[in-house]
Amino acid sequence: MASSTDLKLELTVFTYGYNQRRAEIELRPAIPVAIRGDSLAIKEWVDGLAILMSPDFKFTNEWGCEICGKQARESKYNVVYWTHLPQPRVVFYIHNLCEAGMNYCHKVIKDQERVINAMHMMPSPPDPSWPNTDHRTPESPYPAASSCAKCNDEKTAKKGFKMSRCSACKLTRYCCPGCQKADWSRHKKACKVIESVKWVHWPVH
Ligand SMILES: [Zn+2]
Ligand SMILES: [Zn+2]
Ligand SMILES: [Zn+2]
Repeated sequence: MASSTDLKLELTVFTYGYNQRRAEIELRPAIPVAIRGDSLAIKEWVDGLAILMSPDFKFTNEWGCEICGKQARESKYNVVYWTHLPQPRVVFYIHNLCEAGMNYCHKVIKDQERVINAMHMMPSPPDPSWPNTDHRTPESPYPAASSCAKCNDEKTAKKGFKMSRCSACKLTRYCCPGCQKADWSRHKKACKVIESVKWVHWPVH
Protein backbone atom coordinates (compact mmCIF):
# COMPACT_ATOMS: atom_id res chain seq x y z
CA MET A 1 0.00 0.00 0.00
CA ALA A 2 1.46 3.35 -1.05
CA SER A 3 1.99 5.87 1.70
CA SER A 4 0.33 9.27 1.44
CA THR A 5 3.64 10.90 0.55
CA ASP A 6 4.44 8.79 -2.50
CA LEU A 7 1.17 7.90 -4.14
CA LYS A 8 1.99 7.10 -7.73
CA LEU A 9 -0.27 6.46 -10.66
CA GLU A 10 0.06 2.99 -12.15
CA LEU A 11 0.10 3.87 -15.82
CA THR A 12 0.53 1.23 -18.50
CA VAL A 13 0.77 2.08 -22.18
CA PHE A 14 0.19 -0.61 -24.79
CA THR A 15 1.10 0.59 -28.24
CA TYR A 16 0.29 -1.62 -31.22
CA GLY A 17 1.72 -1.88 -34.72
CA TYR A 18 1.79 -4.28 -37.66
CA ASN A 19 2.46 -8.03 -37.27
CA GLN A 20 1.38 -8.02 -33.63
CA ARG A 21 4.34 -5.87 -32.69
CA ARG A 22 3.76 -3.92 -29.56
CA ALA A 23 5.50 -2.04 -26.81
CA GLU A 24 4.40 -2.20 -23.19
CA ILE A 25 5.52 0.81 -21.22
CA GLU A 26 5.10 1.04 -17.45
CA LEU A 27 5.18 4.48 -15.87
CA ARG A 28 4.80 5.61 -12.28
CA PRO A 29 4.25 9.38 -12.13
CA ALA A 30 3.62 10.81 -8.66
CA ILE A 31 0.05 12.05 -8.27
CA PRO A 32 0.06 15.72 -7.20
CA VAL A 33 -0.96 15.98 -3.53
CA ALA A 34 -3.70 18.54 -4.27
CA ILE A 35 -5.71 16.12 -6.46
CA ARG A 36 -5.35 12.86 -4.53
CA GLY A 37 -8.69 11.27 -3.84
CA ASP A 38 -10.36 13.38 -6.55
CA SER A 39 -11.13 10.92 -9.33
CA LEU A 40 -12.16 13.54 -11.91
CA ALA A 41 -9.18 15.79 -11.24
CA ILE A 42 -6.85 12.80 -11.60
CA LYS A 43 -8.49 11.98 -14.94
CA GLU A 44 -7.87 15.50 -16.20
CA TRP A 45 -4.29 15.38 -14.99
CA VAL A 46 -3.77 12.06 -16.82
CA ASP A 47 -5.16 13.55 -20.04
CA GLY A 48 -2.63 16.38 -19.73
CA LEU A 49 0.15 13.83 -19.23
CA ALA A 50 -0.96 11.95 -22.34
CA ILE A 51 -0.59 15.08 -24.49
CA LEU A 52 2.79 15.91 -22.93
CA MET A 53 4.12 12.39 -23.36
CA SER A 54 2.63 11.61 -26.77
CA PRO A 55 5.97 12.13 -28.59
CA ASP A 56 7.56 9.61 -26.23
CA PHE A 57 4.98 7.01 -27.15
CA LYS A 58 4.80 7.80 -30.85
CA PHE A 59 8.40 8.32 -31.94
CA THR A 60 9.84 5.17 -30.46
CA ASN A 61 10.27 2.85 -33.40
CA GLU A 62 9.56 2.01 -37.00
CA TRP A 63 5.88 1.46 -36.50
CA GLY A 64 3.84 0.06 -39.35
CA CYS A 65 0.06 0.54 -39.52
CA GLU A 66 -1.56 -2.07 -37.30
CA ILE A 67 -3.91 -3.11 -40.11
CA CYS A 68 -2.11 -2.68 -43.46
CA GLY A 69 1.59 -2.42 -42.51
CA LYS A 70 2.25 0.87 -44.33
CA GLN A 71 4.35 3.40 -42.46
CA ALA A 72 2.38 4.62 -39.45
CA ARG A 73 1.62 8.31 -39.19
CA GLU A 74 -1.29 8.65 -36.87
CA SER A 75 -2.11 7.24 -33.50
CA LYS A 76 -5.49 6.48 -32.13
CA TYR A 77 -5.91 5.84 -28.49
CA ASN A 78 -8.34 4.55 -25.94
CA VAL A 79 -7.94 5.20 -22.26
CA VAL A 80 -9.33 3.11 -19.44
CA TYR A 81 -9.36 4.83 -16.07
CA TRP A 82 -9.56 3.42 -12.57
CA THR A 83 -8.89 6.77 -10.95
CA HIS A 84 -11.50 6.19 -8.21
CA LEU A 85 -9.46 3.40 -6.57
CA PRO A 86 -7.21 4.03 -3.54
CA GLN A 87 -4.36 3.00 -5.87
CA PRO A 88 -5.34 4.80 -9.10
CA ARG A 89 -4.56 2.99 -12.33
CA VAL A 90 -4.86 3.99 -15.99
CA VAL A 91 -4.23 2.08 -19.21
CA PHE A 92 -3.64 3.66 -22.63
CA TYR A 93 -4.20 1.53 -25.71
CA ILE A 94 -2.50 3.20 -28.66
CA HIS A 95 -3.07 2.02 -32.22
CA ASN A 96 -0.52 3.07 -34.82
CA LEU A 97 -2.29 3.63 -38.14
CA CYS A 98 -1.32 4.73 -41.65
CA GLU A 99 -3.88 7.50 -41.41
CA ALA A 100 -6.88 8.32 -39.31
CA GLY A 101 -10.07 9.92 -40.57
CA MET A 102 -12.31 7.63 -42.51
CA ASN A 103 -9.98 5.23 -44.26
CA TYR A 104 -10.34 1.46 -44.07
CA CYS A 105 -7.70 0.86 -41.36
CA HIS A 106 -9.25 3.47 -39.11
CA LYS A 107 -12.64 1.88 -39.61
CA VAL A 108 -11.39 -1.58 -38.60
CA ILE A 109 -10.03 -0.18 -35.32
CA LYS A 110 -13.19 1.83 -34.72
CA ASP A 111 -15.34 -1.29 -35.20
CA GLN A 112 -13.18 -3.28 -32.78
CA GLU A 113 -13.56 -0.49 -30.26
CA ARG A 114 -17.30 -0.41 -30.62
CA VAL A 115 -17.46 -4.12 -29.77
CA ILE A 116 -15.17 -3.72 -26.76
CA ASN A 117 -17.01 -0.64 -25.51
CA ALA A 118 -20.34 -2.42 -25.83
CA MET A 119 -18.94 -5.28 -23.74
CA HIS A 120 -17.90 -2.87 -21.01
CA MET A 121 -20.96 -0.63 -21.48
CA MET A 122 -18.65 2.32 -21.90
CA PRO A 123 -19.29 5.34 -24.09
CA SER A 124 -16.66 5.84 -26.80
CA PRO A 125 -13.97 8.11 -25.41
CA PRO A 126 -13.20 11.29 -27.37
CA ASP A 127 -10.13 11.22 -29.62
CA PRO A 128 -7.43 13.24 -27.92
CA SER A 129 -5.44 15.19 -30.47
CA TRP A 130 -1.72 14.71 -30.77
CA PRO A 131 0.35 17.84 -30.43
CA ASN A 132 2.30 17.64 -33.69
CA THR A 133 -0.46 18.75 -36.04
CA ASP A 134 1.49 21.90 -36.94
CA HIS A 135 3.60 19.73 -39.27
CA ARG A 136 0.63 18.83 -41.42
CA THR A 137 0.81 19.46 -45.15
CA PRO A 138 -1.21 17.77 -47.91
CA GLU A 139 1.82 15.61 -48.84
CA SER A 140 2.63 14.77 -45.24
CA PRO A 141 -0.56 14.59 -43.23
CA TYR A 142 1.15 13.78 -39.93
CA PRO A 143 4.79 13.15 -39.06
CA ALA A 144 5.87 9.54 -39.60
CA ALA A 145 5.77 7.57 -36.37
CA SER A 146 9.45 6.65 -36.44
CA SER A 147 10.82 10.13 -37.12
CA CYS A 148 12.83 12.16 -34.60
CA ALA A 149 10.71 13.01 -31.54
CA LYS A 150 11.86 16.62 -31.71
CA CYS A 151 12.10 17.72 -35.34
CA ASN A 152 9.77 15.08 -36.94
CA ASP A 153 11.83 15.46 -40.11
CA GLU A 154 10.55 13.11 -42.83
CA LYS A 155 14.06 11.98 -43.78
CA THR A 156 14.74 10.79 -40.22
CA ALA A 157 11.99 8.18 -40.66
CA LYS A 158 13.64 6.67 -43.76
CA LYS A 159 15.06 3.16 -43.51
CA GLY A 160 18.73 3.21 -42.63
CA PHE A 161 18.72 6.67 -41.05
CA LYS A 162 20.71 6.32 -37.86
CA MET A 163 18.62 7.28 -34.86
CA SER A 164 19.70 7.29 -31.25
CA ARG A 165 17.52 6.26 -28.36
CA CYS A 166 17.49 8.09 -25.02
CA SER A 167 19.93 6.04 -22.95
CA ALA A 168 18.00 6.64 -19.72
CA CYS A 169 14.53 5.39 -20.71
CA LYS A 170 15.53 3.50 -23.88
CA LEU A 171 12.32 4.64 -25.51
CA THR A 172 12.35 8.03 -27.21
CA ARG A 173 14.38 8.41 -30.40
CA TYR A 174 16.24 11.39 -31.83
CA CYS A 175 18.14 12.15 -35.03
CA CYS A 176 20.98 14.06 -33.34
CA PRO A 177 22.26 15.19 -29.94
CA GLY A 178 20.93 18.70 -30.68
CA CYS A 179 17.35 17.47 -30.97
CA GLN A 180 17.71 15.36 -27.83
CA LYS A 181 19.01 18.34 -25.89
CA ALA A 182 16.30 20.67 -27.22
CA ASP A 183 13.58 18.18 -26.21
CA TRP A 184 14.90 17.44 -22.73
CA SER A 185 12.78 19.99 -20.84
CA ARG A 186 9.69 18.21 -22.22
CA HIS A 187 10.94 14.63 -22.31
CA LYS A 188 12.44 14.57 -18.79
CA LYS A 189 8.98 14.43 -17.23
CA ALA A 190 8.31 11.13 -19.01
CA CYS A 191 11.90 9.86 -18.87
CA LYS A 192 12.06 10.02 -15.08
CA VAL A 193 8.87 8.06 -14.50
CA ILE A 194 9.33 5.27 -17.07
CA GLU A 195 9.86 2.08 -15.10
CA SER A 196 10.13 -0.42 -17.91
CA VAL A 197 9.72 -0.83 -21.64
CA LYS A 198 8.98 -4.25 -23.05
CA TRP A 199 9.12 -4.88 -26.82
CA VAL A 200 7.00 -7.75 -28.02
CA HIS A 201 7.57 -9.42 -31.43
CA TRP A 202 10.39 -7.01 -32.38
CA PRO A 203 13.40 -8.73 -33.91
CA VAL A 204 16.20 -6.78 -32.15
CA HIS A 205 16.40 -4.12 -29.51
ZN1 LIG B 1 -3.25 1.15 -42.76
ZN1 LIG C 1 15.70 15.70 -34.94
ZN1 LIG D 1 14.49 9.21 -21.80
